Amino acid sequence: MTALPNPLSHAYLVTGGNGDSRADLVRRLTAAYLCEGERPPCGGCRACRKAAAGTHPDVFHTAPAPDKQEIAVDQIRALRADAYIRPNEGRRKVYVIAPADAMNPAAQNALLKVLEEGPAYAAFLLDAAQPGRLLDTVRSRCELLALPPEEDKPDPELQARAAALAELLLTGTELDAAQALVELELEKPKADGLSALLLAVEGQVSRRLAQNPRRGVKVLQALKTCRENAVFRPGAGLTLGWLAARLFQP
Ligand SMILES: [Zn+2]
Repeated sequence: MTALPNPLSHAYLVTGGNGDSRADLVRRLTAAYLCEGERPPCGGCRACRKAAAGTHPDVFHTAPAPDKQEIAVDQIRALRADAYIRPNEGRRKVYVIAPADAMNPAAQNALLKVLEEGPAYAAFLLDAAQPGRLLDTVRSRCELLALPPEEDKPDPELQARAAALAELLLTGTELDAAQALVELELEKPKADGLSALLLAVEGQVSRRLAQNPRRGVKVLQALKTCRENAVFRPGAGLTLGWLAARLFQP
């Protein structure tokens, strides 16, 4: 778990990771702002429990309206007006904007002033997968919290398939491997699906490198090049043929 900054700044831009890890960090930061315990977020005080349950009256979430892609300027104006009303029961008010990169430019401009000179009790948490879509002026008024990259939820079917393929590439005969690659090719996988599979195979092979180090390293190199090419190719045939040839060249 990422350690929380201490003391807390008044505004954070949370990026990186995946949707779940960003949301988790935003929840912990929210509780940390409101916590009444000695080591925020303590997790046990009234404020922490309310924050976790989503019932704290001093937490405000802003997201696109259900039928919209963007966060509109009116929503940020409403947030801004609210920010000048003192907290209901906590010491602070926490404004969560997620996804913050859904704010259109007018909304971002409306946020600037309150980000810069809002009341001291107001805290802002901007959750953005694509921080590049935010104005420089917005980004520069927030402290950046960048999570390390994380794979999205593992797909068990993909992992099982990757494990079987890895086993074959590490220990199978040339014929076995060629056969498996031909079968894969017959499925005509889409470039991104193939890329995900090859990435998973790479993960499996690197975890089992000790099984057959010489071949393992060769497999890894071939897979990496292959995956990088697959991303840019519409069909998988060429890629897989190339992989088979590369793996068993003397
Ligand atoms: Zn607490």
